[in-house]
Amino acid sequence: MKRHINIALDGPSGSGKSTVAKMLSEKLDILYLDTGAMYRAAACKAMELGIDTLDEKGVSSFIGDLDLSIRYIDGAQHTFLDGKDVSERIRKPEVSMAASNISSLKCVRLKMVAMQREIAASMSCILDGRDIGSYVLPDAEYKFYVTADAKVRTARRQKELRERGFEVGFDELLAEIEQRDFNDKNRDFAPLVQAKDAVLIDTSSLSVEEVAEKILSFIER
Ligand code: C5P
Repeated sequence: MKRHINIALDGPSGSGKSTVAKMLSEKLDILYLDTGAMYRAAACKAMELGIDTLDEKGVSSFIGDLDLSIRYIDGAQHTFLDGKDVSERIRKPEVSMAASNISSLKCVRLKMVAMQREIAASMSCILDGRDIGSYVLPDAEYKFYVTADAKVRTARRQKELRERGFEVGFDELLAEIEQRDFNDKNRDFAPLVQAKDAVLIDTSSLSVEEVAEKILSFIER
C-alpha cells in the first residue's frame, strides 16, 4: 500500500506554485489541491451578493452555508459554487484582489481550512497555498516555501492571464501582486509565513522543471 503523504507548497502569488504542484502531483500520482481556488470562489459569492469582501459581518452572513465543493474531472480540479462549475470565473483578474481581501477574514479561513484538512486527511495530496505548512497542516510530511522576485512573479502572472485571454498592464499587475503580498503577510489570522521546517526555494531563475526536480530530490532523500 502506498504511504499517505501530504506536501505543503506555500509562497506568494506568482511564485510558480500551481504549475509545479500540478507537475509533482502527476509525477507522484497524488492529488493536487489548489487552495487559492477556494478563496476565489468565496470572493465570487460575495461579489454576486453585492457584499464588500472586507465586510466581516456581511461575509459571515453567508460563509457558514457556502455551497462550495471541489471535484476532479479527468484529473483536473474543478471548483463548484451552488452546484455550478466556476473554475473559469474564479480566474478573472478582478477576482484576485477580492480573494486576497476575503481571505483575511477569520470566518472565511476557518471554513476553508476545515475543508482542506478533511481532504488532506482522506488522501495523499500536494496543497498549494499561503498557510498550509504553518497553519493548515503543521505536521505535513514535506514542506516547501517557494518565492521569487516580485517583477519575475508579475511577468509570470501576466503571461498566465494572457494565455487565458486577459490583457493586464505590467505596472498594474505588479502593484496588485505587491498589495496581495502585503495583505497575505500582514493579516492577523494565519498569515503567509515560511514555516520553520519548510525548505526555501527561490524560483526567480529556475524553470518549472528545475523547481519540480529540486522538490523531488528532497522528497526522495
Ligand atoms: O493562489 P491564488 O492567487 O489563486 O489565491 C488567491 C488569494 O487567496 C491569494 O491572494 C491569497 O490572499 C488567498 N489565499 C490564502 N491562503 C491560501 C490560498 C490563497 O490566503 N491557502
